Amino acid sequence: VITITLFSGYKKENPLYKDAKQPIEKRIEDLLARMTLEEKVMQLNQYTLGRNDNANNMADPVNDIPAQIGSLIYFGSNADLRNRVQKKAMEQSRLGIPIIFGYDVIHGFRTIYPISLAQACAWNPKLVEQACGVAAQEARMSGVDWTFSPMIDVARDGRWGRVAEGYGEDPYTNAVFTVASVKGYQGTDLSSEKNVAACLKHYIGYGASEAGRDYVYSEISRQTLWDTYMLPYEQGVKAGAATLMSSFNDISGTPGSANHYTLTEVLKDRWKHDGFVVSDWGSIEQLRPQGVAANKKEAALKAFTAGVEMDMMNRCYDNHLGELVKEGKVSEALLNESVRRVLRVKFRLGLFDRPYTPTTTEKQRFYRPESMKIAEQLAEESIVLLKNQNKALPLNKVSKIAVIGPIAQTKWHLLGSWAAQGNAEEVTTVVDALKAEYKDKAEVTYALGCDFDGQDKKNFEEAKNVAANADVIVLCLGEKKNWSGENASRSTIALPQIQEELAVELKKLGKPVILVLSSGRPLELNRLEPISDAILTMWHPGTPGGKPLAGVLSGRVNPSGKLSMTFPYSTGQIPIYYNYRQSARPHQGKYQDIPSTPLYEFAHGLSYTTFQYGELKVSATQIKRGSKLLVEIPVSNTGDRDGVETVHWFIQDPVSSISRPIKELKHFEKQLLKKGETKTYKFEIDPERDLSFVDGNGKRFLEAGDYNILVKNKKIKVEIVD
Ligand code: BGC
Repeated sequence: VITITLFSGYKKENPLYKDAKQPIEKRIEDLLARMTLEEKVMQLNQYTLGRNDNANNMADPVNDIPAQIGSLIYFGSNADLRNRVQKKAMEQSRLGIPIIFGYDVIHGFRTIYPISLAQACAWNPKLVEQACGVAAQEARMSGVDWTFSPMIDVARDGRWGRVAEGYGEDPYTNAVFTVASVKGYQGTDLSSEKNVAACLKHYIGYGASEAGRDYVYSEISRQTLWDTYMLPYEQGVKAGAATLMSSFNDISGTPGSANHYTLTEVLKDRWKHDGFVVSDWGSIEQLRPQGVAANKKEAALKAFTAGVEMDMMNRCYDNHLGELVKEGKVSEALLNESVRRVLRVKFRLGLFDRPYTPTTTEKQRFYRPESMKIAEQLAEESIVLLKNQNKALPLNKVSKIAVIGPIAQTKWHLLGSWAAQGNAEEVTTVVDALKAEYKDKAEVTYALGCDFDGQDKKNFEEAKNVAANADVIVLCLGEKKNWSGENASRSTIALPQIQEELAVELKKLGKPVILVLSSGRPLELNRLEPISDAILTMWHPGTPGGKPLAGVLSGRVNPSGKLSMTFPYSTGQIPIYYNYRQSARPHQGKYQDIPSTPLYEFAHGLSYTTFQYGELKVSATQIKRGSKLLVEIPVSNTGDRDGVETVHWFIQDPVSSISRPIKELKHFEKQLLKKGETKTYKFEIDPERDLSFVDGNGKRFLEAGDYNILVKNKKIKVEIVD
């Protein structure tokens, strides 16, 4: 008897789930079997400091965090606080289950990269993967295990502030960058101190919010759901994303956070995702105002049974889930399965074995030269040259440059929305960057001209004087940081009138005007376009600030970015995107007052050199199902300097059983072409993947018939036969 007592005592202190050598699934089952109902429920909640039961006892914030909580949000770079909270969980909870710490690391942690919409314009997934890798490392070393990123909501309405956070209007583009960022964040081993768990958000259709307003209804048929919104999520899950976030929006009557079809039938049953889904901030409770739950308890029931495992900041699950299980409304099997999913991610992150964040210095973590190099390269490649009349750019023969406008001297606004722990002090302004770029080759002068908005023209005179003394005006207009991001919609995507008026006044001086834009969305430029000799956008570039731009203006860098989102001619065209479905009368149905075409279309972007596209060649014009096709096009650099060209490959399915978009991007490739050089760009078409389409239940079809392969204005026809 004595031996048995001693033995079980020994077993109690060294339970299997604490043994790092055991397989994860075994550890999960062992732990689960030991957990009480209350302990299980607590794993399914995410809290933040100062909002819980002990919020009035904040002498030490750790008091406000219960030891058995599943997750916490927002610890930024306070690794010490994180470790103290974690210690409480490890030592004061009965089973010592570590907390998972989540944070919004969206386009960098301390070293801030360009916003995601800009990143996509670089068409360089490898570089995005590296940037996310740096962000992951900075975050994990600062105590963050889990980022609420990437945001992969296909978005076609620039009024919506959150277009800045995603990769633009195209499903394929979003899918490619989803995979790149998941790889970058998670690496090959989640438990490494360089990696964090990714979170695909906002599942799903949030980008379709009506009229570009945040949190509102979205009307998405099943066909459109599959055609437009699912692909990035499907690919992200395939790439191993540990978690997803359920969206705020009501999808045709069933909110994203109560949607059994998307959360369970598709994500878990069909795609076999084995991590977990966290709600968006309050999105469970918000099932009440959305009109599908009468109270928090019912909201908890709906969200949980739909497939949301973790409640972000809502106190719906911790207060009601236990009761729902006792009443038999939620099965124990579902509860166990949900807890399993949360524990699985914690085990994969290695949190049970290394719960604490090792101490490092800021210097070891942040702004390392290689991290800044990636940031600068990504910012450089994401700059899009939209117009360059009479080779107004580069500015390599000028001696006096007037830099004017509210963007010229700002650091803060260049960081962009959701800048995590980004420090504006580290950002280089456009003016400082140009001064450094030109040193004694040209004089750089500055005037504010006007503020971002308002009506005050008192600085116009000074700006005109400064401009009158220069050879060229670099006019830096755009948007504040907080004009994009969450809850930051605008009714128009034009710049405020004061900025346009400044441009008109300066143009009167008769000097070349180089319009530099910095924004979190495409802009309405139809009034500014005619008065600008050249236009380029640097979006919100992050920590590198004006440096990459200075390189492009001086000609040190040849711009190569291409748009990931259409620039409409005017706001009234929205939604406008390249992959629309053909009208019944393509030559009619136009606006009476404005053009029907965009000002700058998807994938538009100029270079200082010129590229000539040769003839498209295809390996066969007719193939049987099951075989592949190779399409090639030679591209020559016919200009007078080296340049980088991204070739976009589209397909077109002119007749099919369900109407298809006018064209769809299926592949892109970016190459450096030396002056005078010709290179062949290739696309290996797998018809089952590239020429097929999905129906309203996500089933893929490849139909026999004709397809067109499109590159620029070249087109070649291929036929699939049975
Ligand atoms: C946003 C999410 C974000 C979460 C946590 C929500 O309001 O919609 O994108 O991850 O807050 O900060």
